[in-house]
This record gives sequence, C-alpha cells and structure tokens, in this order.
Amino acid sequence: MIAPIAELERCLARLPGLGRRSASRAALALVREPARLAEPLMAALAAAHGAVRCCSRCGAFTTADRDPCGLCTDETRDGSILCVVEEPADIVPLEASGAFRGRYHALGGKLSPARRMGPERLRVAELAARVAKEGVAEVLLALSTDMDGDATAGYVAESLRATGVKVTRLAFGLPADSGIAYSDPLTLKRAITGRRAV
Ligand SMILES: [Zn+2]
Repeated sequence: MIAPIAELERCLARLPGLGRRSASRAALALVREPARLAEPLMAALAAAHGAVRCCSRCGAFTTADRDPCGLCTDETRDGSILCVVEEPADIVPLEASGAFRGRYHALGGKLSPARRMGPERLRVAELAARVAKEGVAEVLLALSTDMDGDATAGYVAESLRATGVKVTRLAFGLPADSGIAYSDPLTLKRAITGRRAV
C-alpha cells in the first residue's frame, strides 16, 4: 500500500467502531471518490474542529455563539434535576432515549489512578456550586459501572453531602468500558426510571 493511503488507514482505524478492515475500505473509498467523499469530509472536519466547544455551564458540546448551550437555556427543561455524566458525548444517547428532561453536568472524565485522573481534574466544585445556585433537588449520577465509575460516584456523592441534595444513580448495568455512550435507548430509559439513592 502506498504511504499516503496507509497513513489514512491508520488514522481511520483509530476511530471508535472502525476496525482495520473497515478503515481500509473507507480509506480506499475516500481516495477513489474525492469529490463525493473526501472533500465534504475535509470541510466538515475543519468546520467541526473550529466551531465545537464545551458549554461553560454544563460541559455539553455546543458552539461559541451558544454558550450556555441549548440544554442549559431551554426553559421547558426541569432545572431541579441534574444528570451527571463523565463525558459530553454521554449526553447524546441520554437525549436520544427521551427519558430525561432535566439538565446535565459533564465531569470531564472519571477518577482513574491508571490514567492519572485525580479529583482535581473533575468539574466537581462547579457541580456543587450549581447545586447551590440553581436550586437543584436531585443529582442523578449516570456514570460507568466499573471500579473507576464506582469510585467517582462515591467521591461526587461525598463532595455534595454538605449541600443536602438527594443523590441517585442509574439503576443497572451499563457497559463498563464504553460508559453510557453506546447504550441503547431502552436500556437507558429503564436505568433512569429505576434509579436509586446513593
Ligand atoms: Zn450547557
């Protein structure tokens, strides 16, 4: 394989959900049909790279001209319940499930000694400040169910104890390694409905 195509394959293979075979097929399609595939993709990548940022309040993906984001400013949403997720990408499947109409707070990751993620790198102080300022009655933890997710849930619950807010957690087993980003809508709906106190 010639070098530029091999490099393209390597880059594509790093994307989640694309194995080596599909990355190779995608790379070949891109060089075969530049006008239909490669050029719009390059334009979309450049636009997304320049425009997408995280909401300064909740951490969800938004654009520079919409900060706070649409989720934060939507008056029809229930501001008394905050759903805490690890990454902004986790908000997308929760919204798709249609089962949650409150607001969100992305921590920016989870505690992980292996990845050197300590509590100082999570947006927990911002969360506590929002609970106090926005009149939040319940914080729903939508974190992964592995050891790091459990440790993070414990840490967040402890950090919020002084505020007196009710802290709940999703009811059951979501995929541990991928967080909630790949959970199907029905699983998420059940997990939200059956949430329990931490
Ligand atoms: Zn927001």
